[in-house]
Amino acid sequence: MKKIEVLEQLVEALKILPGVGPKSALRLTYFLLQRNRKGAKILSENISNALEQLIHCELCNNFSEEPECSICSSSKRDKNTICVVEMPTDFLMLEETHSYNGLYFILMGRLSPLDGIGPNDIHLSKLVKRIKDSNINEIILATNFTVEGNATAQYIKELFKDIDIETTRIARGLPIGGEIEYVDSGTLAQAIVERKKI
Ligand SMILES: [Zn+2]
Repeated sequence: MKKIEVLEQLVEALKILPGVGPKSALRLTYFLLQRNRKGAKILSENISNALEQLIHCELCNNFSEEPECSICSSSKRDKNTICVVEMPTDFLMLEETHSYNGLYFILMGRLSPLDGIGPNDIHLSKLVKRIKDSNINEIILATNFTVEGNATAQYIKELFKDIDIETTRIARGLPIGGEIEYVDSGTLAQAIVERKKI
């Protein structure tokens, strides 16, 4: 068997990153070893620490250092509303808007049968348990407006159709300050369909 050298092992390891092919992996390897050895050391230590210390919150599935994250255990959050998002980045975007004070559930993905991602892969049984064990009366479905995101929202809505809980979908509209001319046609079409009386 061919011996894999240390350098080759690092190149191989970097190839797990999205969008990093063999050439980029090699470039990154040389950058880390030659140009930024200190940064490389910090990076490796941080990856290692994150892997050791971060777990999934038992309630919302987000990354957390504790079994219950700071949002789930906060007494200042509205415990009657839960917002379902695909990824932790979506959760951060919503938090930055300061317009929502309820709870969250992070799916860590979306249904995508073509990629082999089914209901078990997006932790839906954990979501069902969370909702049954709580006083939540509204689920806001904030998955992306992609084919998979819409299908995921629809699937979750169906899951709760027999229990007394309201399911809502975030509205899609024109960005604040956005000029119609520069908005993509899909967004504009939806904005027309979902028009409100003024
Ligand atoms: Zn949590």
